[in-house]
Amino acid sequence: MRSFVIICGMSYHVCPRDCYDSCGMILQNGRLVGDSNHPFTSGFTCGKAALSLRQVSDPERITKALVRTKKGFEKISIDKAISIAAEKLSSNKVYRIDYSGHMGLLSRFFHQRLLRRLGAPELVWDICSTAGDVALMDGIGSIWGCDIDAIKDSDLVIIWGANVAYSSIHAYTWAKQAGEVFVIDPVKTPTAESFFHVPVNPGGDVALSLQILRELDAMGYEVPFCVDDFGNLEHISGVSSETAHLLASKLANSSRPFVFIGYGFQRQWNGAMAVRLVASILSVIDQPDRFYFDRPYHGIDVDYIRLKGQEPSKETLSWTLLSKQLKGLTDATFLVLNANPVNTLPGRRQLVETFQNSRNTVIVHDMFMTESAQVADVVLPAKHYLEFEDLVASYGHRFLAFNEKGLEPPPDAMSNMELARELARQLKLQQSELYETDREVINGALRNLDIDYEFMKEHKIYRLPDPAKPGPVNWPEIAQIRRSLYKPVEGSYMLLTPVGRLRIHSQYANVLQEVPLLEINPKDAQKLSISDKEHVNIKNNRGSLDVVCKVTDKVPPGVVRLEHGFWTDAEKPNVNDLVEPTLQEYGGGSQIMWTFVNVEKGE
Ligand code: SF4
Repeated sequence: MRSFVIICGMSYHVCPRDCYDSCGMILQNGRLVGDSNHPFTSGFTCGKAALSLRQVSDPERITKALVRTKKGFEKISIDKAISIAAEKLSSNKVYRIDYSGHMGLLSRFFHQRLLRRLGAPELVWDICSTAGDVALMDGIGSIWGCDIDAIKDSDLVIIWGANVAYSSIHAYTWAKQAGEVFVIDPVKTPTAESFFHVPVNPGGDVALSLQILRELDAMGYEVPFCVDDFGNLEHISGVSSETAHLLASKLANSSRPFVFIGYGFQRQWNGAMAVRLVASILSVIDQPDRFYFDRPYHGIDVDYIRLKGQEPSKETLSWTLLSKQLKGLTDATFLVLNANPVNTLPGRRQLVETFQNSRNTVIVHDMFMTESAQVADVVLPAKHYLEFEDLVASYGHRFLAFNEKGLEPPPDAMSNMELARELARQLKLQQSELYETDREVINGALRNLDIDYEFMKEHKIYRLPDPAKPGPVNWPEIAQIRRSLYKPVEGSYMLLTPVGRLRIHSQYANVLQEVPLLEINPKDAQKLSISDKEHVNIKNNRGSLDVVCKVTDKVPPGVVRLEHGFWTDAEKPNVNDLVEPTLQEYGGGSQIMWTFVNVEKGE
């Protein structure tokens, strides 16, 4: 195992994974522990922090640049690799393929300056919270009500469509100390098991919201349309009118309610409308800001980091639709960083084919041989987040934090910012914005606040100003709500594809090497003559996958569940082969969390 070199006795870090909590951490004597003085995360982290330290010294880590030859990958010098990459970037049409592997502000945005100069289209990150963000802006004029730690002073908590035991360990811990907690979820997740579980049909959240509004209307609250017009909602939501009444009366009688609106359920065909109605319930009971969904990087000049004087390209691509949009493309160079699209994108098989076209070039910057790196032409070693400075702003709380350099990286490894500067140098580009130092970029990003690089380096944490609170409700049209009520019917079983406990999409899957099981209800297993731990095949018209099943009543009949993100060979099927790259009609967000499949006994 490669050992790592600690460069000073103690260093400050912030976990930059795509996670609500953005934990403050201290690296001391080779141990990464939670910062007990962090005002939000107060000294504890989830198990992914320990996994991230294991990544640093993992024997599989890429420490040398690789180039594809007829005999497979061969190690080459970093200078030679950069020169090959630059030549390909200058001779072909360039595409930027990046997302959220490292949520540091510089790691995520600075390289976009170079890619735009090279003519790359903008990439719209519409796969995660777009549907909810659009819906909340339409409905109440703000995506932010309060931060997640509002749970602490709430007398009623509703966790709607989120498994926070996996995705926000702090929310889960505070909820355990809160008064009454309800969890609305189709699946009996570990979060649902810990509290009062309200099982809802997948996609039944619009109907359940209307049921609650109907109950509130009956209690004398002002609901500006007749909810009775929607007919029998119970059979759509799967939630009885007694339970809807219970939820409505709890909300009506609470002085400090809090609703955690999750991301999972808004990545379905009607997710945007569901989020809009859930938030509107709080306005009806005159508690419009008592929810969490998202927090903008308020006060930080993100455009400075990504644009600095440049105009955005008029050509745009959608991250959700990327596999489809790039299909058949030739004479292109794809720069893939901060992402593993060959694992995580819906319809990812099409992307493999595009990448493998001999007239295209794929350059991947990563720490490991991800599925995307496996099909690359040039692989460049990346630094771990413990090995360079960055700023991390949370989307779950208000604390901006400074990540120090605590470990010496492998000599050829680069941060995303260093890679962008090296490529610009090799390409002999003259524009000064391409060569700004990290310190200059941080100062530019913080120029609207009363802080700078020196402040952050010294104090590590800064409390950002709060965004604007929600305004009055703008109710959707009845016809629009009606269109969101019913689910499309196609195939036998609805497959839900959430993330696992110790993975963040495909991150950490290689360290864990766990293969998830397909969860199926005992009634369905009996109908299909399937036993626990038996091989089954799931398929639809987009693909087919062999998996081992787990018979459990945690999933309802008619639903199967398989966590996404586990690693496999790029050539082998993956659950995202079964998911259609498509956007929601309202909100424009992805529908990545679900699809329909047939389930058969395996060979
Ligand atoms: S993954 Fe989330 S909870 Fe876990 S250490 Fe990172 S920020 Fe904290």
